[in-house]
Amino acid sequence: MLRQKWGSVVCPSCRNLVGVNDERCFTCGRWNPGLWGFAPLLSRLGRDLGFTQFVMWSCIILYLLTLAFDVQGVSTGGFNFLAPSGRSLFVFGASGVIPVFRAGRWWTFLTAGWLHAGVLHILFNMMWIRQLAPAASEMYGPSRMVIIYTIAGVTGFAASTLSGAFIPFLGGAGFTVGASAPIFGLLGALVFYGRRTGSSIVGDQAKSWAVALFIFGFIFRGVDNWAHLGGFAGGYAAAKFLDPLQPERLDHLVAALACLALTAIAIMFSIVNALGSFRI
Ligand SMILES: [Zn+2]
Repeated sequence: MLRQKWGSVVCPSCRNLVGVNDERCFTCGRWNPGLWGFAPLLSRLGRDLGFTQFVMWSCIILYLLTLAFDVQGVSTGGFNFLAPSGRSLFVFGASGVIPVFRAGRWWTFLTAGWLHAGVLHILFNMMWIRQLAPAASEMYGPSRMVIIYTIAGVTGFAASTLSGAFIPFLGGAGFTVGASAPIFGLLGALVFYGRRTGSSIVGDQAKSWAVALFIFGFIFRGVDNWAHLGGFAGGYAAAKFLDPLQPERLDHLVAALACLALTAIAIMFSIVNALGSFRI
């Protein structure tokens, strides 16, 4: 039986019994606990439908691929320990003024958030995704979390690239990668959740994390603060549009799958396009 149409299922978040068609779990408040009747099938993937694991493994695999693609170019010194070469990151879809305005690679707004510039960079970002993605999918549902994540990546890298091109001195990025733009988007969504629902615990926690991370970004050199700002704003706006007080719908799941498919296509297109123009 693929889809359960009646009776009760176990809530994927709190493991209490809920009706398969219930809008909301009585115990923990999770939206759509029956997952459109697919709960028995999908809850094996986890409370967030496996998205946290999916992002982490995708980032790790892409990181290893960017190292392997240009082994001679890997740098090993200091803060850039095990950093893939710039050429390799360009091929896989780094964003910023150079790829977007010099090479016309505007689709890298979608791809750059899945790439990382060193072992510390990826470690730090994966820690934050493990923290924030499950929390955001409890509050918005996993599909809307994926939509927020994707939009925040795009707005973050767009902000970084445009400010790099048009605002001198304040410095957007010439060349940028990393999951921190979508991570800031999740923070923006949690802050909005606090405002919309009056849950000051969630809102205040997210706010203090965001402030700490922003400050961290301004202290350390080479951090793409515009991507953080753009990601936060995009996540907040997307969260407002998706409204956490409304139930998650099946078309949200369709949109989330479309976001992921589009991103995968953009990464593949990035590689094909770059290899075509390098003639190697
Ligand atoms: Zn529940």
